[in-house]
Amino acid sequence: MQSYVLAADLGGTNLRMAAVSEKGAILSHALMPTPDAVSSSQLGGLLDQLAEECRDGIKGVGQLSAVGMGVPAPVPANFDGILTKLPNIRTLQGTDLGLLLKEVFNVPFHIENDATAAAIGEHWLGATREIDSSICVTLGTGIGGGLILNGQPLRGRDGSGGEMGHICVEPEGHPCGCGSRGCVEQYASATAITRIANEKGLFTNDAREVYTAFRKGDSRAVETFSTMARYLGIMLAGLVNTINPERIVLVGGVTAAWDAFAADLEAEIANRAYEAPALRAKLVRGVLGDNAGILGAARGAIDAWLE
Ligand SMILES: [Zn+2]
Repeated sequence: MQSYVLAADLGGTNLRMAAVSEKGAILSHALMPTPDAVSSSQLGGLLDQLAEECRDGIKGVGQLSAVGMGVPAPVPANFDGILTKLPNIRTLQGTDLGLLLKEVFNVPFHIENDATAAAIGEHWLGATREIDSSICVTLGTGIGGGLILNGQPLRGRDGSGGEMGHICVEPEGHPCGCGSRGCVEQYASATAITRIANEKGLFTNDAREVYTAFRKGDSRAVETFSTMARYLGIMLAGLVNTINPERIVLVGGVTAAWDAFAADLEAEIANRAYEAPALRAKLVRGVLGDNAGILGAARGAIDAWLE
């Protein structure tokens, strides 16, 4: 009988789950909006409900071997399972997620930071497969990141390994939710793109509309994306020198606007980083789309099971 893992991705907007085979095939999936002010006990019920939908999707074939979950919170190398810092889902602060997963599923489990999970997913099955060292940047509402060094994810002692959204690129710049100013998240996320376009007199509801304007040749949209590319390039040039990766993979919703910023971004990195590492670090788009994080969480579950 074939076994499978369940992998979940907890986001500020949606809670997703998939049944995934040992080889990384998504067998079924389920999704629901993350309720406002979701509580720990409510989360347990919702995970159970999504698991039921995933099981229905595969018609009860196979046996659940492990569970993996990506969370928008720091996950240290030796994580105790307690969620400490969730700026986007504050009501889950202090939740013992390890205990909760054990109660709901009673199988081995693995918890991963969501951006690190995306890096692991792309490394397992996507754009950085068989690449030893890579930088993964998640460009969405905010900016996150994950590092794969010598084939292994960098988690860090306090779970901030790979966190690159709050690298400062403008010392006296726009204030950031993290308490600092001028973080790259304030210049290159979807939220930032909308704000920058707005500052240039292009009033839109979201970054998607800024991209639509770019496609129509609107000069304010063109400038917005080159500003975004410049700041993202400043951040990545520093990391390219520091880490000397073979690949930089960009994932998340903003990558839909690839043609609006990728050339400028490459040029900025080339202008600022040392020549050899800049040439080495190939800039690519993720290939797993929304599934990168969920597949990374699945990989963690499979490893937890094999242990
Ligand atoms: Zn910040």
